[in-house]
Amino acid sequence: MKITIYSKDLYTYGAMLVGGILKETHKHNIKLIKDIKNKKLFLKSDIVILSLYSTLNIIDPVIKDTVDYLKSKNIKIYVAGPVSAYPEIILNELNVDGVILGEGELTTPEIINGSKDGLAYFENGEMIVNKPKSKPDLDFSKIYVPKDIAAQNVRGANVYIETHRGCLGHCTFCQVPEFFGRDIRSKPIELIIEEVNELKKNGVNRIAISGGTGSLYNFKNTVNKNKFIEMIESVSNIIGRQNLSVPDMRVDYVDEEVLNAIKNYSIGWVFYGIESGSDKLLNSMKKGTNSKKNLKAIELAKDCGVKVAGSFIVGHPKEKEVDFLMTKDFIVDAELDDVFVSAAEPIPKTELCTEVLNTKMDENPTFISHNGPYRRYGLKENEARAYDLMLHSEMWKSTPRVITTNLSKVYLDEAKMQGSDIRKATELIFKYRDFLI
Ligand code: SF4
Repeated sequence: MKITIYSKDLYTYGAMLVGGILKETHKHNIKLIKDIKNKKLFLKSDIVILSLYSTLNIIDPVIKDTVDYLKSKNIKIYVAGPVSAYPEIILNELNVDGVILGEGELTTPEIINGSKDGLAYFENGEMIVNKPKSKPDLDFSKIYVPKDIAAQNVRGANVYIETHRGCLGHCTFCQVPEFFGRDIRSKPIELIIEEVNELKKNGVNRIAISGGTGSLYNFKNTVNKNKFIEMIESVSNIIGRQNLSVPDMRVDYVDEEVLNAIKNYSIGWVFYGIESGSDKLLNSMKKGTNSKKNLKAIELAKDCGVKVAGSFIVGHPKEKEVDFLMTKDFIVDAELDDVFVSAAEPIPKTELCTEVLNTKMDENPTFISHNGPYRRYGLKENEARAYDLMLHSEMWKSTPRVITTNLSKVYLDEAKMQGSDIRKATELIFKYRDFLI
């Protein structure tokens, strides 16, 4: 069968994995694309799978238009990817044949053959949601590698690879534990090596390891440092340490050995999800850490010669002015090497989503108009906080940058874009409040 997989804007690992299974194991004719400007590209397909990862993808007018066009040509269309956690929204917003639920590696080939297991769809006006019966072991043999993969740039890497799934955390804003579960399933090291060799053969020279918290690789009751270290050493030996990054790490799952391995076998950066400088807010987000632990992990990384980037969330419905000021103070104390700021996004089916749905719009920083120092820009409160924190971080990084007019504009535009996206996503969840609460 001719199957086109559309992975919006970038070749996600998940789309490459399903593509590999459909091609190698099930002998389908596969095309993986990341651009739908030319809808006619799909016309030779029997089936189209839209692999989507953001709530906004569902209401993207180009995607809606493409779906309507393909339906008019009688082509079967399924949606897959992280958005499949909320099929009720997809099936009402997009005229597709079904939503492939959760991890689709086992179910997609069966669904293509007509099975309904692991599929959500409408039948006689009624929505049927058949949850997948099991979660896959990560023993898939071959990913589908698009020819132009080496030209892809995702935050500096050509590709993000997956070494394990699941997370032990309970962070209320995060989809990972609900989607993948809290048991850690890890890919055998031999398969990771095989995959990295395959990517290298196809021109990839910069790889990042994704998957929540890197050091949870092979976690079984406790962190298995040796396996994690063996894994990144093996990948580094193939691709070169200057071409490997191991971005995400939880502050409570690093120690000197783990950090030294990151220093020795990768570009030498860790990326901690700090989120806030307020312990009250960290508790409310169920982050499982506090400012003291966060600062300690930052210091430990610096002592090991590892650079530290931290990410922060602003505009959480429970974030008060005092919490935001504590975050600014934390950034001063932490002297991070890099900082990423995001406005809180209520991903459907997360606890944060329920919290946002239970917060009146005029009490949610996403919708409150900002009346402080940036009011001339017409910002919402979450946008003003994001903008302010971006500027503030620049001044308190380990190597501060001069805030030029240009840089200030870049941050203002970024804050406005995030604010606009999150308003759209929040309006969408309110539309489907009855399904989500
Ligand atoms: S630690 Fe990271 S991956 Fe795990 S639940 Fe929290 S944010 Fe998500």
